[in-house]
Amino acid sequence: MPTFSNPTDIAREAFRQLAARRIPPTPDNYHALYAEISGQPGATDGAFPAKEMRRLVDAIRQSAPGQARLERKLSEAIDNQDWDILQLALSEPFSLLESLQQLAWGKLISELFRQWNNKSDITPGKKREALERVLEGASANPRTLFSRLEGLSRAWGRGEAATDIPLTDPLDEQSPASSPERHTQAAAQASATPPLLPIEPPERAGKAADLLPEIREMLAYVLDSCIAPLLADQPALAKDAATLGKEIRNATALKQLEAIKGKLKRFTFRLSLAIEDQIELRASLLKLLRLLVENIEELLQDDQWLHGQIAMIREIVAQPLSQRALDDAETRMKEVIFKQSQLKLGLQEAQNALKHMLSGFVDHLASFADATSGYHDVIEKCARRISAADNINELEAVLEEVMRETREIQYNALRARDELRQKQRQVAEAEERILTLERELAETSHLIRHDQLTGVMNRRGLEETLTREIARAGRYELPICVSILDIDDFKQLNDSQGHTAGDEALIHLTRVIRDTLRPQDTVARYGGEEFLIIFPETGLAEAAAAMARLQRNLTRRFFLFQNQKLLITFSAGVAQLKSGEMRDSVINRADAAMYDAKKAGKNRVFTASASDQSA
Ligand code: GH3
Ligand code: MG
Ligand code: MG
Repeated sequence: MPTFSNPTDIAREAFRQLAARRIPPTPDNYHALYAEISGQPGATDGAFPAKEMRRLVDAIRQSAPGQARLERKLSEAIDNQDWDILQLALSEPFSLLESLQQLAWGKLISELFRQWNNKSDITPGKKREALERVLEGASANPRTLFSRLEGLSRAWGRGEAATDIPLTDPLDEQSPASSPERHTQAAAQASATPPLLPIEPPERAGKAADLLPEIREMLAYVLDSCIAPLLADQPALAKDAATLGKEIRNATALKQLEAIKGKLKRFTFRLSLAIEDQIELRASLLKLLRLLVENIEELLQDDQWLHGQIAMIREIVAQPLSQRALDDAETRMKEVIFKQSQLKLGLQEAQNALKHMLSGFVDHLASFADATSGYHDVIEKCARRISAADNINELEAVLEEVMRETREIQYNALRARDELRQKQRQVAEAEERILTLERELAETSHLIRHDQLTGVMNRRGLEETLTREIARAGRYELPICVSILDIDDFKQLNDSQGHTAGDEALIHLTRVIRDTLRPQDTVARYGGEEFLIIFPETGLAEAAAAMARLQRNLTRRFFLFQNQKLLITFSAGVAQLKSGEMRDSVINRADAAMYDAKKAGKNRVFTASASDQSA
């Protein structure tokens, strides 16, 4: 088609084309042809309903001031007279609405509440900081808010405080963070009331409204049953929390709710201050404890029996505090205190016996000395009578007396010697006992819950730890698994390489176990060459995978004995605790699975299915 630059020529050509193409000569068709011939579609306003569309954008701006992004997209499409973009921009809110209907708000909020209450590894301060960041940073777009809250919940689930990790925000990715529109949009959103996209279809709006009483009840519950008891040392604030909870539960009128909103805001502010105080207080207490421990340690040169406890406290205060470590320390401490009090009692008894013997010994010496001085007196008297005697009969009587006295003193001397020898033996025995008791006392604090050969927890320690972990798993509704492993053909190793090789193999195995598993997993010596591992917060597949990893590592890190590489393998059974199941039952199921692994040819890991009965 030739090009025309003159409007008259274009108009003439348009009429000619109308006739040539047999198009009805309506004004719209004329405009369309004029635009086509001129090659400038933007030059004609009429073909594209720009004016009407701009009016639509104005209407959107007035009724939904927060929709700056939609408004901007529509304006751009109108400027470019681009139907496709216009269509996309207009359909976006509808598809968003559609997807919004699938968002599980109720589930998300109850999960966040649960994590807020139960996630003890993240401090309330950190949780608040993360939540505020999410709420501040989220656009008014409910989808974005949902996805950010979901990201937060996932991060908390992984034990991350999420105060600095970027939260996924798929819709905001479309506009760069630095764009000025984005800031304008954020500002508009901040002041936007009511919230955007409120066009819930009536049946959805009804369902959302149905959820509100439930959410309100939860909020009330959090305030009066969770927060109030936590504030036991701040009665006024605790009372406010309880009162607020009650008010939220009873409020029905809008006015009441508005008043509660204000109170809740003020309460949250005071609560955040209280939490900060508590965090500081805890940090100061820890600092104090650290100082005390350091100081005691310096003073403890000879009192060996206190070293274990002090070392344990030092270890705890060096790490971030965790309930598990504190519980563990408390049990260990109680046990040590009990055992040491028993030992100290024995020590006191032995020392008293020693004292008693020594004083008896001194008494004996004194009475012996008395007896000898009496003898000397008698002999002296006899000597005088001998020199004064003038006949043999008299001498005979004196000599008889001398003989009698001498025999008696001799007998006494012999008896005293025997008694003293016996006492000497008793003293040596008492001293020996005292020494043994003192040595035991010194060892108690290190060894009480641990196996002496391998240093891992012994059976007694294991029972307490497992009971505690099972209770924790029940409280937080978390999975927990146990695994029993038994070394394959260990007797053969002992028989061929000797008992020392066997002992060292056990030490090697526990070292590999410790290096392979997570710090929160506990390993305990369950029997001769059997070990039990506790996997807190772990499902069956994950625990079985950890055991398989251990198996691989044990093959890689071969056991070296007297320059020989010896391969140790084990068979293991893994079981996950069922709801309400007892400690012994889950151990039995793991044991049965281990036995099955042995029967199936050893060197393998078997899992117990939930339907297995414990033996
Ligand atoms: P399986 O593969 O069926 O488990 O065979 P096994 O030989 O490992 O099992 P068995 O029960 O027949 O033998 C276990 C051996 O472990 C016998 C015992 O002497 C040895 N044992 C147990 N405790 C210790 C220990 O502390 N040190 C050493 N060296 N050996 C130990
Ligand atoms: Mg065995
Ligand atoms: Mg064995």
